[in-house]
Amino acid sequence: MSENKCPKCKTENSFVKMTSVETLDIRNENIRLEIPYIKCDVCEEEFFDLDIDPLDLAYRQYRSKYNMIQPEQIKDLRKKYKLTQKDLSNLLGWGGATISRYENGALQDEAHDKVLHLVMDPKNLKKLVHDNHSAIPLEKQELVLKIITRELLKDSKGISLLNLDVFGAYPTDEYSGLAPLNIKKIVNSILFFCSGSGELKTKLNKLLFYADFLHFKDYEKSITGAQYVHLQFGPVIDNYEFYFASLIHEDKSLLVEEKNCGSYIGENFIANKQPDISQFSTSELRVLSFIKEYFEDFNASKISAKAHKEKAYLETKELDLISYEYASDIELNQN
Ligand SMILES: [Zn+2]
Repeated sequence: MSENKCPKCKTENSFVKMTSVETLDIRNENIRLEIPYIKCDVCEEEFFDLDIDPLDLAYRQYRSKYNMIQPEQIKDLRKKYKLTQKDLSNLLGWGGATISRYENGALQDEAHDKVLHLVMDPKNLKKLVHDNHSAIPLEKQELVLKIITRELLKDSKGISLLNLDVFGAYPTDEYSGLAPLNIKKIVNSILFFCSGSGELKTKLNKLLFYADFLHFKDYEKSITGAQYVHLQFGPVIDNYEFYFASLIHEDKSLLVEEKNCGSYIGENFIANKQPDISQFSTSELRVLSFIKEYFEDFNASKISAKAHKEKAYLETKELDLISYEYASDIELNQN
């Protein structure tokens, strides 16, 4: 009612606020609703707000009573991770219209609600994206994973980089190079490669890969225990963005500067402090030094081209974890 005049008897300022109580049966449960409306004091005509849908209200109340996900939460989740309704349906393995129905107010069943609760946690969403390679387009996957990493990093603010819980410790197996994940070694390997005039991010990723895989080839154990993932631009440490971001923004031990690389602008990482080499065994230091020296004259495209030709890369698909078993095929001869 935009003006204060009753449309029926035309009396001014005659409205009083009322509440109508209704009971709706939702899944065999009586949901009591209080629906606001106004009534003219003179002619007693009642005016209901057509935007208020009692069934929608009842569903909301029911969801809130059982701590179920509300439609806006699904929309917000999709927006945050740049997922379409179809993307999210595909990821969850649901029918095409399901997400749309829930966002438009349909009451989800219990099993679906459990799943929705799970994907609200970025750690679970990350696993879902990882485990469902064909669900969404590749570029989308990388984008989503990037946003998830940022979310996880946000959640972990104030917590040290060395907190393993952020991504959960994973098993010591062929994907970790038979070594337990050692974040101090990852951090110090990064600082080791970025000392001096620094290293381009794209090249740094490959140096880390070659160091871990070469050490596995020679000593049957990786250096850092990191898992490597097949991404479009090469093999990278799983969650590498997290390590870089932590070192840059939290630890401040890594500086970033833009570097003109001819055809593109690269991110050059420069170590702001000395690596703690006491973290490494003799063989690990030997391999790290060898890799740094071996690839010294390789620019980012040359080392990328080499990494893309490794069996570890050729025999795996996008977002696959890379088994260290492929290390035996890596050849670093004098060229
Ligand atoms: Zn009236």
